[in-house]
Amino acid sequence: MAQCIVGEMDHNEAIQLQAAEKYVLGELPPSLRDQFEEHYFACQECALDIKAAAGFVDNARHVWRFAA
Ligand SMILES: [Zn+2]
Repeated sequence: MAQCIVGEMDHNEAIQLQAAEKYVLGELPPSLRDQFEEHYFACQECALDIKAAAGFVDNARHVWRFAA
């Protein structure tokens, strides 16, 4: 249980940061983005979160385009 390994994000951290959503929106700072990329390659839950967030962003764009 080493919590001090640099460059590793655990799942709780990713959830707390809302990393998937921010990743999709491009709001993660580069250092966190790299850590999150490493995490979600191995974490199906986070990979699904990204897909869900990406789908949401797509839908939002869709709505905005028609609202504009
Ligand atoms: Zn995860």
